[in-house]
Amino acid sequence: MKKKIVILGSTGSIGKTTFDIIKNNRKDFKIVLLTTNKNSSTILKQAKLLKVKNILISNLKQYLRLKKILKKSKINLYNNLDDLPKIIKKKIDYTMCAISGLSGLKPTIDAVKFSKTIAIANKESIICGWHIITRELKRNKTTFIPIDSEHFSIWSLIKDQNKDNIKKIYLTASGGPFLNKKNSLLSNIKPKHALKHPNWKMGKKISIDSATLMNKIFEVIEAKKIFNLDISKFKIIIHPKSYVHAIVHFKNGLVKFLAHDTDMAIPIMNSLYINKIFDYKNKSLNLLMLNNLNFSKPDIKKFPVLKILNKLPKKTTYFETILITVNDYLVDKYLNGKINYHLLNVSLLKLIKTPYFTRYYMFGPKNIIDIKIMVKRVTTYLNKTKLN
Ligand code: NDP
Ligand code: MG
Repeated sequence: MKKKIVILGSTGSIGKTTFDIIKNNRKDFKIVLLTTNKNSSTILKQAKLLKVKNILISNLKQYLRLKKILKKSKINLYNNLDDLPKIIKKKIDYTMCAISGLSGLKPTIDAVKFSKTIAIANKESIICGWHIITRELKRNKTTFIPIDSEHFSIWSLIKDQNKDNIKKIYLTASGGPFLNKKNSLLSNIKPKHALKHPNWKMGKKISIDSATLMNKIFEVIEAKKIFNLDISKFKIIIHPKSYVHAIVHFKNGLVKFLAHDTDMAIPIMNSLYINKIFDYKNKSLNLLMLNNLNFSKPDIKKFPVLKILNKLPKKTTYFETILITVNDYLVDKYLNGKINYHLLNVSLLKLIKTPYFTRYYMFGPKNIIDIKIMVKRVTTYLNKTKLN
């Protein structure tokens, strides 16, 4: 029987990759719902191509535009992500959570309830709301698979292992487009250059986070939460080829690492075909890829945001929500030419230390509403703050 699939954020980088895998394997899967923010043309094409019955467009203008076009169509069109539980009434097999940012949190929690398996790429949801997600995973007996390539690798490497046997886990970072650029030339880097990731094709926000290495800080927080391990177990290591995604050093002396091409289709396809045999493009392994793996320690002068690693609280507090919101705000300002690359890095470090925020690092959000209120509070504060 075909697996029933939902893709949240089907018009983004991860969403499109997931959609294309399904398009090429129609005999195994049937999509029951696709969602987008405003990309109504792409979602319509996707829906027509695979005869998807339900589509959701969050942006009102684009929803209304499509409503006219679909007047006589059999496709059901929705506008509000809060309606997911009304749209999906019966359990489906698999949901891909690929909405970017914290807008993905509520839909992810709803999807945990109506999915047998949930694959989460949306790292912001994991970072700020893992304690809520994990409660629902247990309550609904939903299988969880992390999609971020490092986490998918760690998950694959340790799933049959006793966690007490883990000595260290290394998350690899390519070092982004500026790894070999002189530090003195970095202050005025233009967004178009920062967006040019050497190995991965990703959405804009995550591409900037990869250039500053903020993405890797997020991934350490993500890993700590998903695998419920102390922060001291994790290390970041530079590996420009991005061929190895994670390395696990066990206490018994064994070191295991997981390598694959820089193609998110690999973790996604493995999550869709879990425990089944399938051929990923049927390519033979290029062993030369394993020469000169070239691991090195990250340079804190080049990537100043690494200092945040020493500030991470042991428990979930408002720190994560504040960090994500401040970084989102600054990345947006940088992408829109309002601040330069130097200020992007420096302001982040400064802002998270301001007393207005640090007073919230002692306690944490209990639910999504708490998280939303904090995001609003932080954004209001930032809008009134002069960056320097
Ligand atoms: P994109 O920006 O390419 O896509 C995001 C998707 O979410 C789009 O479909 C977008 O719609 C939709 N969306 C964005 N904001 C909203 C909103 N407010 N309401 C409803 N829908 C919304 O992101 P990526 O695919 O690159 O990343 C998705 C998530 O996965 C992120 O959290 C990212 O950190 C994570 N991730 C991504 C990786 C990658 O390789 N790209 C790797 C590992 C993790 P629209 O098209 O209209 O904008
Ligand atoms: Mg990653």
